[in-house]
Amino acid sequence: MREGGVKVKYSYLAEQFANVEGYFSDLRKLVKSGEFTLGPTVERFEKKFAEYIGVKHVISTNTGTDALILALKAAGVKPGDEVITVPNTFVATVGAIVAAGARPVFVDCDDRFQIDAGKIEKAISKRTRVILPVHWAGASPDLKTILSIADKRGIAVVEDACPAVGAKIGKRFAGSFGKVNAFSMHPLKPLNVWGDGGMVATDSDEAAKFLRLYRNHGLSDRDHIEFWGVNCRLQPVQAVVAMRVLDGIETLIRIRNRNARLLDQGLSGLEAHIRTPRRLKGNREAFQLYLACASRRDELVRTLIAKGVEAKIHYPIPLHLQKAARPLGYKRGDFPVAEKQASEVVTLPSHQFISEKQIEAMVRLIRNFYAKKTR
Ligand SMILES: *Cc1c(COP(=O)(O)O)cnc(C)c1O
Repeated sequence: MREGGVKVKYSYLAEQFANVEGYFSDLRKLVKSGEFTLGPTVERFEKKFAEYIGVKHVISTNTGTDALILALKAAGVKPGDEVITVPNTFVATVGAIVAAGARPVFVDCDDRFQIDAGKIEKAISKRTRVILPVHWAGASPDLKTILSIADKRGIAVVEDACPAVGAKIGKRFAGSFGKVNAFSMHPLKPLNVWGDGGMVATDSDEAAKFLRLYRNHGLSDRDHIEFWGVNCRLQPVQAVVAMRVLDGIETLIRIRNRNARLLDQGLSGLEAHIRTPRRLKGNREAFQLYLACASRRDELVRTLIAKGVEAKIHYPIPLHLQKAARPLGYKRGDFPVAEKQASEVVTLPSHQFISEKQIEAMVRLIRNFYAKKTR
């Protein structure tokens, strides 16, 4: 096959939901039941997900962003508090901090695209209420170190595990370490639904009680309001979809890990041009994104796209350099690792519907790209 003949799509949704009969039959049952706000379907999903990741309580929400806002509130974040996180994440991590009334304080990332745990202590102040590490790209930060720093200082850890359903550190799942943790079920996350969805996970009975009430107007029953809440409930329709996707999650993660391993192997030896992050033994990544750092990144991405490979960039501008961040007073040079990565990072498609052949073709394209210009 000629080099130009490869087609590798970034989205897998058409294939994932090519056969929807099972989903539709579950949905018919839901429609018959008329339980369209919370109710038994949502409860069944919450229980199933709690069992899967090994936590006591799961409280589902409308979006991952809502899950983050609720998790921060349940961890005690109040207006004027500071929350420590990274500048290389999806905007929602920081948007949620601000929505909870707090001030985001950034810490640079490391060569694995995760928060640099060694730089956290210097960012802690009297106002720090929460450390919010992100499982960026579906890989995990050094939670052992982060938890010990937080413990020592009496600060809570809230995991942004939005992209990381199925990721593990040792035997424990991402989103089961912090006091209260958030997940997303956006279509492009490992556990996905037909629209938006999210979950908060916690072992704390007190946090769970607050979350269940707050998510549903603060209503303890139809006539009694414990405190002012909001409505950010998961739609039962999405719980139906989530339950079926959850049944296949281990398979999906296994295939993504195989694809990532093949890409890692295919790109090895090219380190002068394109570098993949260290993979920690003992950790299992969910590979929501397969990231690498590439020289001549923009040209590489343009070339890949022109040849049919839907490469992406997550993200070209770190959050501390966004217009929205101006009131925080950061400047270029404050987070050199994140800034350098923003100029080099590339996302290669590696999802569960990509074949070994497609991966070989992608690797060939990348090898040719660097071979040509260096001669
Ligand atoms: C996807 C994502 C979110 C937000 O989730 P939504 O469900 O889209 O609101 C937050 N943080 C990170 C790191 C994410 O990847």
